[in-house]
Amino acid sequence: PTVSESCKRLSLFTDSLEPDRSARPVRRNSLLGRSSISSSVVSLRSRWLRRNGFVADRVLLDNEPSERCESFGFCSSRELQLDAMDAAEFRRCGKQLIDFIADYIESLNGNRREAMPRVLPGYLRQRLPLRPPDQPETWERVMSDVEEHILSGTAHWLHPDFNAYFPIGISYASVLGDLLSSSFGVGFTWRSNPALTELERLMLDWLAEMMGMPAHFRNDSGIGGGALQGSASDCVLVSMLAARKEKLTQLIGKDAEPLPVSRLVAYCSQLAHPCVDKAAVICGVRLRRLGYDDENLALRCDLLESAVLEDRQLGLVPFYVCAVLGTTACASCDNLSDVGAVCHREQLWCHVDAAYSGGALVCPEFRPLLQGIELVDSFNFNPSKWLLCTFDASVLWVKSQSKLKDAFVSGPRASIPVDDAPISNPLEQICDLKDWGIPLSRRFRSLKLWFVIRLYGVEGLQRHIRLHCRLAQSFESQLLKDGRFQLAAKTRFSLVCFRFRDSDALSRLLVCRINQSRDLHLMPASVRDRYIIRYAIVRERAVEADVNRAIRVILKHADQLDGKFSNAASIASAIPIATAVATSGNAVNDSEDAEEPVELNSSVPIRKEPSYMSDDLIVGLSEDQLQEKFRQMSREFHRERRSLRRRLDK
Ligand code: PLP
Repeated sequence: PTVSESCKRLSLFTDSLEPDRSARPVRRNSLLGRSSISSSVVSLRSRWLRRNGFVADRVLLDNEPSERCESFGFCSSRELQLDAMDAAEFRRCGKQLIDFIADYIESLNGNRREAMPRVLPGYLRQRLPLRPPDQPETWERVMSDVEEHILSGTAHWLHPDFNAYFPIGISYASVLGDLLSSSFGVGFTWRSNPALTELERLMLDWLAEMMGMPAHFRNDSGIGGGALQGSASDCVLVSMLAARKEKLTQLIGKDAEPLPVSRLVAYCSQLAHPCVDKAAVICGVRLRRLGYDDENLALRCDLLESAVLEDRQLGLVPFYVCAVLGTTACASCDNLSDVGAVCHREQLWCHVDAAYSGGALVCPEFRPLLQGIELVDSFNFNPSKWLLCTFDASVLWVKSQSKLKDAFVSGPRASIPVDDAPISNPLEQICDLKDWGIPLSRRFRSLKLWFVIRLYGVEGLQRHIRLHCRLAQSFESQLLKDGRFQLAAKTRFSLVCFRFRDSDALSRLLVCRINQSRDLHLMPASVRDRYIIRYAIVRERAVEADVNRAIRVILKHADQLDGKFSNAASIASAIPIATAVATSGNAVNDSEDAEEPVELNSSVPIRKEPSYMSDDLIVGLSEDQLQEKFRQMSREFHRERRSLRRRLDK
């Protein structure tokens, strides 16, 4: 109906109930009618509205029941006279778009594009108009610009030669789920979108079961539960906000003075993702990054205990620990039993960030990592990384849903639309997903989880995870056969971390040359202040041939470097390489000698970053500048070699 027809029908109905005319809507797109009519009339009327296809919410103004209002939203494209796409055009363009997406992904499989674009910063402003169009353009023109200007500047994460970061989770099933989700609007309360609320809660219970999570993380436990957030960074922030609220609430009971949040201290390993720093900044709390052990690269709990003690002596208030399963740099895992035990003893909130590796838990062989999970207060992982669910979808489970919601629900609930629909399941009655995180509205993300889990089945997802792990092991064994490489960390999940000739400078040069050549795209990291090269299996349909090609590329560039630095081999092999070429499953074990950090040119320090490092792909340099860059790196290598020789002589 048009807006005017709607108003007429609504007024007629209202008049038939009560003579009070003050709620009569006027002709506007969004109306707020105010009335002091009784709640039974309001309830009758909103049911009538729903039955007749309207959306109407009631709100209380100023918390006064007499100030009960109703708001009605109308939208009529006929009245707005929109010229843009109609249903027929949508069908035509949508079919084309699906073909376009399939062709695009196929073109990557067939290696018909390079993994990384050849564009310079600011390229798009030089190509696209700086002003929006006044008149509508055609779909064909838009799509031709996508091909010409967007694809040419896109990093192709599904490309077989793209081996940086972590898996990206793009699958056809999830793309379709995402498409559907974007046509279903949003939800925040149960009432605003019952299917969205209930499917999300059910999918998180499915995942909990698929991954062997304890029952209290399930929504049907009524104790804890889970909700989707946009990213792992959001999950870490949300868990920290909940922990902060819990600690402040505990302390307010003891102390009349409110505690300044800056006295709260959170802890994590030096290998935890920088999103923990970001969360601490947003929460206004301190963060202490602590060391990790040499063997497993796991957070050292002796350091955690002494840091907590020290901070308490300084009058600070420890409150939160973020443990990691699958660190960004090298996929190492903290020990949940040990971290959990300290948290339990010291009354700290224990959070686990398993952004990437969490997906592996669908395979029972990875579940020993969950030992100690009963001591954990919250847990996050991204189905959008390794479970083929396309960004964005991050699961956050909490042991106590009331502790989580306490951080987000404050003030009178009366300002929130009230639901008067009969509810069959009392568990759903209390679930308004807006209380489970920062935003009010949320996308229908669970559709893509539902699509993926149903279209693959649990066994299909297990096969996917196991295939990636097998490919990583194949890469590792082929690489180690060469003799010039060593593992920089045990190969875990689908990530292999290695070094070239136990040299920071040579490893760096190798990555720089490989990325510059665009034969592969790798992203290095830093562990124990050493430069490490990461090879990640990223795309869903990865095959053995991708790994074989990657090995050929790496060896070709390694040979070129060896040719250039002729005695690199002899120097490097003279060094006791105790990061000894370990086979998969063996931990790296440095000798005393190798333990000492290698001195490098101080003007080009190895950055002590906990996660990815610059890949040294210097965009925008001329050929001369590039050559100079390589010369500079070569000098760095020679300096490193001199330093090693001095150590050997000693
Ligand atoms: N935590 C870990 C362990 C990660 O590896 C990453 C990203 O790779 C993040 C957090 C951040 O993830 P997001 O991009 O979902 O915020």
